[in-house]
Amino acid sequence: MTEDVRVRFAPAPTGYMHIGNLHTALFNWLFARKMGGAMILRIEDTDELRSTSDALEVIYQGLKWIGLDWDEGPDVGGEYGPYVQSERLDIYHEYLDQLIGGERAYECFCTPEELEERRQVMRARGIPPKYDGRCAALSDDEREELRAAGRKSCIRFRVEEGGTTLIRDIIQGEVTYDNALIGDPVIVKTSGFPTYHFACVVDDHLMRITHVIRAVEHLPNTQIHMQLQAALGFEPPAYAHLPLILGEDRTKLSKRHGAVAVTDYEQQGFLPEAMFNFLVLLGWSPGDEREVMSREEILSSFSLEACDSSPSVFDVQKAEWMNGEYMKLMAPEVIAERLLPLLQEARLMEDSPSAERWEWLVQVVDLMRERTRLLTTFVSWGQYFFTDDYEYENRARKKWLSREEIPERLELLADRLQLLATWDHQSIETAVRGLAEESGVSAAKVIHPCRAAITGTTIGPSLFHLMELLDQEDAIGRLRGTAELARAGKLAAEPEDE
Ligand code: GLU
Repeated sequence: MTEDVRVRFAPAPTGYMHIGNLHTALFNWLFARKMGGAMILRIEDTDELRSTSDALEVIYQGLKWIGLDWDEGPDVGGEYGPYVQSERLDIYHEYLDQLIGGERAYECFCTPEELEERRQVMRARGIPPKYDGRCAALSDDEREELRAAGRKSCIRFRVEEGGTTLIRDIIQGEVTYDNALIGDPVIVKTSGFPTYHFACVVDDHLMRITHVIRAVEHLPNTQIHMQLQAALGFEPPAYAHLPLILGEDRTKLSKRHGAVAVTDYEQQGFLPEAMFNFLVLLGWSPGDEREVMSREEILSSFSLEACDSSPSVFDVQKAEWMNGEYMKLMAPEVIAERLLPLLQEARLMEDSPSAERWEWLVQVVDLMRERTRLLTTFVSWGQYFFTDDYEYENRARKKWLSREEIPERLELLADRLQLLATWDHQSIETAVRGLAEESGVSAAKVIHPCRAAITGTTIGPSLFHLMELLDQEDAIGRLRGTAELARAGKLAAEPEDE
């Protein structure tokens, strides 16, 4: 019988949520759901100076945005709580006593300045710096003296002196670390707070975590974790370290590469469904050519064994392409729901649109989505749907709006459109083509200037369909207004910089 799978996502609530954090959360979630196991959210706020409740909120939001849920956590509770480390200090102290009793932990009185000085000496001698064990063998009297002198202490874990630590990682394979290379790590700080290593090992054990799935940056920490587990008599969990995520220049993805916070992607107009799919493909593939896959398809093919140990590149172009594919695939109502807050923020839609207005938005989405990669495109390129205050692109001015014959043609078209009793794409098309014929010009010579006048752009969805979605009076007003500006010479093209 196999034990029920239990995994955890264990973010530190310090600062923003990095796209790499979301990637880790996603792989934990996939494995839990695939195995019918439990997903646990544990908040690692042992950095008491940098942890904030705002950062915690951002974590919840990021997870919810992409559609991940959890079975146990600070907000939903669970059998193994509390799920916030700062609420578990007594628990860590119990295990600390066990380590001290077994002489696997000791008080260290070295100050940060002393430690830094000694590290510099080691570096100067070409030795990789590590704690030199100065306080490891203090006598009771010596400790008493240091305390009496007002020295503050932290607690260090006594690591194995020799030999190696072997990690059998599901993704990275067998990795061996030399024990001589690490110094005794701090496990409880002077403040009485545990460090990440200690709290993580105790909690993974008490929360019955069966698989630790995390970023490969934590692989070296596993050496310390496994030694702590052995010293405390804990069965180690299985480890799966996810591959590194690189920027396009093949260095570790960081702020230098631009957007790395999950909220940046939300604000840039990515659909969470597309981001989910995109992130899954960083380090995993279904083993065939498939890329655009539903959540169900991903779940049915997913395995940790199929994850790649080599780094993957966060290719923004590909993310945008993936988003574009989701734009085509998803129901326009769902896309409209995601889009509405962005439009409201840009003051392009009212706070509580009527049912009719909502229907209209869905139609706009449906018309535009084929050629739209990001939701923000509606706000920028598609602004003409929502406001009369749109810009005339230079290309539109140059190709059409600065031509001599244009003001008159726009006015003639406005006159014709005014006569339409039905405002739909067929009638609009008939009117446009009728004018072209009468004026002895090709239909393109009316269609293009009309688009330029009404939208300010030279490309977009079917002109007749988009005009149908505008109000008749409004469309006519735009044609006349543009004609007037053009006549006044206000739509001359700007010289282009070469
Ligand atoms: N708090 C750690 C982090 O945010 C968790 C590492 C782990 O999963 O063990 O990176």
